[in-house]
Amino acid sequence: MPSSPYIGRFAPSPSGPLHMGSLLCAVASFMDAKSHQGKWLLRIEDIDPPREQTGASDAIIETLQLHGLLWDEALVYQSQRSSLYKQALEFIDGHNLSYACTCTRKRLSTLAGVYDGHCRINNRSKNEINGDKLPAATRIDLQSALAHLNNYDLSEATLWDQIQGHINNDLTDLGDFIIHRKDGLFAYQLAVVVDDLAQGITHVVRGTDLLDCTHKQNLLLHLLHKSSQVTPQKLNYAHIPVLSLPTGLKLSKQNHAPAIDNYKAKENVLVALTYLHQSPPRELTQQSLHQVIQWGIENWDIKKIPKQKAMCM
Ligand code: GLU
Ligand code: ZN
Repeated sequence: MPSSPYIGRFAPSPSGPLHMGSLLCAVASFMDAKSHQGKWLLRIEDIDPPREQTGASDAIIETLQLHGLLWDEALVYQSQRSSLYKQALEFIDGHNLSYACTCTRKRLSTLAGVYDGHCRINNRSKNEINGDKLPAATRIDLQSALAHLNNYDLSEATLWDQIQGHINNDLTDLGDFIIHRKDGLFAYQLAVVVDDLAQGITHVVRGTDLLDCTHKQNLLLHLLHKSSQVTPQKLNYAHIPVLSLPTGLKLSKQNHAPAIDNYKAKENVLVALTYLHQSPPRELTQQSLHQVIQWGIENWDIKKIPKQKAMCM
């Protein structure tokens, strides 16, 4: 038995069926968990209805099952966990670590992605805004959050990734980011951390498209950790290269990446293992899906995954 427990997860958003890029993440996180005798949890991140596609959750679940990627414990839907996210918001708000932001989309579009603290500086209290009946987002107040975590070593902002090495962007460059959206939806950054904590996740294996979120999530993890019991202080991260089209464009639901063909499950898992540089032997094509999965677990070596942000199909 391993000396420390391993709990991994796959956390797809049901914005469409799985494509080869998302299958890579599923296979990589599954193999890494199972090769550590760990658990692999499945969490459907369905808290952004405008981006969701009807039937996508069920399609994802079916694809995973037919590919022999079977999860441990009960399947979790984020849409059923609003009370947890609300508690987290209240915890942050209760410590004065957030503020309401009423900036318009137009104003935000002039900011090149990093919020300038306008509403914090203007010091518009929530009551004032509610009085005005202006719709407001909630932003984390980064400086106050860092002060609150007075033992939060800023050098921790240099996170380590098992594949990508140091994740080097500067925490203070992030800007005060949104944890509750103006449209009333919980922000992905908040929900993902609340659930990773609540589920006792120890290892996050996912695509490099989420690399830049890691600092934000690590900060929230440290803030919210104080209110939870089960938590590892630190998550282990591994960001695998995303698959890109020959044009350099990331394979995604938006650019109509083809859905995985469930009738080719064994071939698909072999293709995924090949993309992940695990070099499955040719003979495996003659074997069963179960044997392919077994081989993948027994021979899994995360160090073989190339240290790249993207790889071409
Ligand atoms: N739900 C996110 C996505 O599909 C992934 C969350 C995560 O793995 O941290 O992009
Ligand atoms: Zn604002």
